[in-house]
Amino acid sequence: NQPILKVNNLKKHFDLGKGQILQAVDGITFEVYKGETFGLVGESGCGKSTAGRTIMGLYGRTAGEVLFNNQDVHKLKGKERNAFLKNMQMIFQDPYASLNPRSTVYEIIAEPLVIHEVYNTKKELNAKVNDLLESVGLDREHANRYPHEFSGGQRQRIGIARALALDPDFIIADEPISALDVSVQASVVKLLQKLQKDKGFTYLFIAHDLSMVKYISSRIAVMYLGHIVELTTSEQLYKNPLHPYSQALLSAIPIPDPDIEEARQRIILQGELPSPINPPTGCVFHTRCPVAKAECSSVKPRWLEKEPGHMAACHLLDPDMILHEKETVVEV
Ligand code: SF4
Ligand code: MG
Repeated sequence: NQPILKVNNLKKHFDLGKGQILQAVDGITFEVYKGETFGLVGESGCGKSTAGRTIMGLYGRTAGEVLFNNQDVHKLKGKERNAFLKNMQMIFQDPYASLNPRSTVYEIIAEPLVIHEVYNTKKELNAKVNDLLESVGLDREHANRYPHEFSGGQRQRIGIARALALDPDFIIADEPISALDVSVQASVVKLLQKLQKDKGFTYLFIAHDLSMVKYISSRIAVMYLGHIVELTTSEQLYKNPLHPYSQALLSAIPIPDPDIEEARQRIILQGELPSPINPPTGCVFHTRCPVAKAECSSVKPRWLEKEPGHMAACHLLDPDMILHEKETVVEV
């Protein structure tokens, strides 16, 4: 399997002034293979959208690198950058905010084609827009209407048509269904899967929980506070989650089988996601980890490959770590 995207120790920090640095993405490493759906999952505020935008080159990087087809995304210039921008597209969480309310559906979908001058005649452009509308299940009659005339699900279909206009090889879908009614989520996911099957592109699929990604992704990286804490196949993550944070995320998904549902313990995480401005020392998860040991607050866990292709960062998985129970504070 050939990687189309390589992310190497990527960091994106924002300098807020007065010595405050927001460490949104703090050293993430993963590869995405051609044609797969790679899930990037974590609570809101964990840095996954910032990671997506940095990978697209919309944000400069603080450190590390992003290689797309072995080209450093942040060093592209001129023609090569233009080709990259055509080849990697994004589908946004809020289809309403990302569509210009004063443009017709036709103008919205045609815009990338016009900017990149990828058609010869007006007739060709019209035909292309009609094809795109059709491919996302919208009527060509819809072309002259405005975004507000559509339902959330239809608006997301418009956003998808726009993302497909330039025939990209890679699509970053940033929570494409989380703003939609539950009743239409499944149909939009099915559409995304069908389009991938027809056109063969690759997805980086960003989500805040595992309920849908687990079904559509071949592999998943679990993110917490700017770090990837576990990375493996969807199947392994579901069967054998190794990191305490992944275990908590998984325990939040309802299982249709009542026997399993009953046997399973829901892990409720205490407290809020800490601020990425002064993130916890040691393991970033230690302030909320139900099984944290004394060493977790000061020593950063190593990235360990526990079985082929299954990586996680937790001291409990590290045979070289000697761990001690946390001292409990006795209140008097
Ligand atoms: Fe929990 Fe410690 Fe493992 Fe971090 S290293 S996940 S705090 S047990
Ligand atoms: Mg987000």
